[in-house]
Amino acid sequence: MKFLDLKKQYKQIASEINSAIKRVLNNGVFIGGEEVNNFEKEVAGFCNIKFALAVNSGTDAIFLSLKALGVQEGDEIITTPFTFIATAEAIANCGAKPVFVDIDPVTFNIDVDQIENKITKKTKVILPVHVFGQMVNMDKIMKLAHRYKLSVVEDAAQSFGSFYKGKLAGAVGRIGCYSFFPSKNLGAYGDGGMIVTDNKKIMEKIKLLKNHGSSSKDKYKNLILGINSRLDSIQAAILRVKLKHLNKWMEEKRKKAAVYNKELSAVKKIILPQVLINNKHTYHQYSIRVIEERNDLHNFLQQAGIPTMIYYSLPLHLQPAFKYLGYKKGDFPNSEMVSQEVLSLPLYPEFSQAEQKLVINKIKTFFKVI
Ligand SMILES: *Cc1c(COP(=O)(O)O)cnc(C)c1O
Repeated sequence: MKFLDLKKQYKQIASEINSAIKRVLNNGVFIGGEEVNNFEKEVAGFCNIKFALAVNSGTDAIFLSLKALGVQEGDEIITTPFTFIATAEAIANCGAKPVFVDIDPVTFNIDVDQIENKITKKTKVILPVHVFGQMVNMDKIMKLAHRYKLSVVEDAAQSFGSFYKGKLAGAVGRIGCYSFFPSKNLGAYGDGGMIVTDNKKIMEKIKLLKNHGSSSKDKYKNLILGINSRLDSIQAAILRVKLKHLNKWMEEKRKKAAVYNKELSAVKKIILPQVLINNKHTYHQYSIRVIEERNDLHNFLQQAGIPTMIYYSLPLHLQPAFKYLGYKKGDFPNSEMVSQEVLSLPLYPEFSQAEQKLVINKIKTFFKVI
């Protein structure tokens, strides 16, 4: 059994993918061009937002968004310590300081009620992360941002296609960031990312930043200093095929999540993932919490041939790379507790009923519920 089997998905759509790749090879345009332009338009349409700009990765999407907002040394950016390193790394690479706020252990997302305490004169951006496929309560975030005149950059790397109150993840704040890393909801066959915004000025700034500050009229006239963060045409062509299937695949994941929810509800030592009202989850990860016996269950399943993953075993405030921030153990108790308890179970659109049954039975066996 695999934790995620991308080959199964490819087999289902092989003819569409192969012809999309062939189309690019025959056109001979490998960076940018029609494929990327069309993909950007299609994502903008999907998100119901004015502008979408393809970049090299989700990490770059966050970095360039902050750069476009003028984030620099001395600024503070509020985010969660329970996320992938890229979120806070992008902040630090702008010279700014990540200011962490603990999470709500029920959703694994930033605790919106603790944000206000951390706002200072230096705060420039609130950077919520929609962890595992469930969106943060964006009403509260936007209210705070409005009151304190802050920008909101959404890290929607794990939540392409998720909704909160009918609005798509990434389409609520001033800027939204997506990752097309192969394992994400919408995954390329390589690296990729996207930035969405309704703000024309920000869009134009990012367009410059992602391509060496090159003027669109004269490629070799560099207006500002930027970086190279472009999306390959082959990846764009692949992603255009996959975007058409996305909603169906997310629905398939929700169905399988419902099976886990039903079958595992009898296990007392497991806390199932909760979907809050107004949210449409996409289960980038189906993450349970296991009281006390997480590591034992993880090992037991491993030996039974069932791969599970621990996201995240070390919250960012305790990462060696962020030692200089001066945080210590105990600063964010919920993040620390959850990192000892989380376990992601295999769940993807093509995951078979038989495989899922086996996972459920083995978990029940471990807890002697059968
Ligand atoms: C994957 C991920 C990123 C980074 O995306 P890449 O495309 O891998 O650079 C950023 N933030 C979160 C929360 C992620 O899960």
